[in-house]
Amino acid sequence: MKVLARDGGTPLKQKPFPNWPIYDEREINLVTEVVKSQNWWRVTGSKVKEFEKRFAEFQGCSYCLGVTNGTSAIELALSVFGIGEGDEVIIPGMTFISTGLAVTNCNATPVLVDIDPDTLCMLPEKFEQAITPRTKAVIPVHMAGHGCRMEEICEIAKKNGIIVIEDAAHGHGGEWKNKRLGSFGDVGIFSFQNGKLMTCGEGGAMVTNNKDIYEKAYVIQDVGRPKNDLIYEHVIRGANYRMNEFQAALLLAQMERVDELNKLRDKHATELHKLFADVKGITPQGREEGATIFTHYMYMFYYDKSFFSGLPREEFVEYLKAEGIPACVCFPVLSDTKFFAENDFNGRNVNYDKKKEHDLTNSKKAGENIIWLHHRTLEGDEEDLRDIVGAVKKIQNEFNK
Ligand SMILES: *Cc1c(COP(=O)(O)O)cnc(C)c1O
Repeated sequence: MKVLARDGGTPLKQKPFPNWPIYDEREINLVTEVVKSQNWWRVTGSKVKEFEKRFAEFQGCSYCLGVTNGTSAIELALSVFGIGEGDEVIIPGMTFISTGLAVTNCNATPVLVDIDPDTLCMLPEKFEQAITPRTKAVIPVHMAGHGCRMEEICEIAKKNGIIVIEDAAHGHGGEWKNKRLGSFGDVGIFSFQNGKLMTCGEGGAMVTNNKDIYEKAYVIQDVGRPKNDLIYEHVIRGANYRMNEFQAALLLAQMERVDELNKLRDKHATELHKLFADVKGITPQGREEGATIFTHYMYMFYYDKSFFSGLPREEFVEYLKAEGIPACVCFPVLSDTKFFAENDFNGRNVNYDKKKEHDLTNSKKAGENIIWLHHRTLEGDEEDLRDIVGAVKKIQNEFNK
């Protein structure tokens, strides 16, 4: 008889996980309100303005600018500081492509540095070692919402005159040492893409405590026009990164659930960690004491195939999915993507040189061995957690027979 669901057996997970995105009457009412208002863009509407005010407060920052998506938010941040050709921007070796893509889209050169193998966040000492006279900015990524060692990163940056742009795409409502992610650096960026912890399908934001940065960013995101311009004055080179009123309407509702969901995921992630303790070959992402609010955008763990009779990670993920557990392999080291390897920067003069890379041992190991579970797996009940571990054990038992 077939046992594993992928081979025709019965899936272990019978009661489904909660769906994502979540919505209720609040989303419906706010979006309907925008439709009826006939003010669908930020210039005449009030929702984007209201969202920006509330999200800035929520993230412990003075200013917030809503934009089209998270990738644009990083590009916008780099543009504010005039970062471009010939400049170097330090980023972690393992992250989602956008962190690097935003840099190359600005014609600047990404410099990859290694991560902590446990927390999967950029190592401050590796950042410091990679600094050259051309280094203009650093983009630490709060991986899965685990805070980077921000006080050290900011101190090194300050000493060397380097801009700090925090990629908090996974960190809505997250904290490092009781301070909100995104509020340490010159600028923090967030994503509201469909899978993110609060979402409007696509969307992004830039937060800052600096009025000048905010003012300049505002002009750039609105095609280079000064605020309230009526005569097509374009004072600097800009782009259209404007968030629309529908996005903001959804986000105003979504923001009301973030804290509660963060708490629930943290409780469940801690429990899942305990349940995995006796499963050989599974090592979850670690947690430093400083991660006072760890949002768990993903539940990440190393998979060691030697405890699964050599079953390759990609195959294991397929077995896991068939059992009803939404899983995915981790991001590869950025420069291992075809995009970087073939220097395909859209004719831009980036010239990434893989031979001159810094040591990326930990990033490579993470990229090649980590699996992540969708955060909705942590948003249900304890039975869900037992099912996750049950599915892993079921596959392990079959392959080790
Ligand atoms: C999702 C994500 C982004 C970019 O977000 P988009 O809104 O999809 O453009 C940037 N950085 C990281 C680490 C992300 O996961």
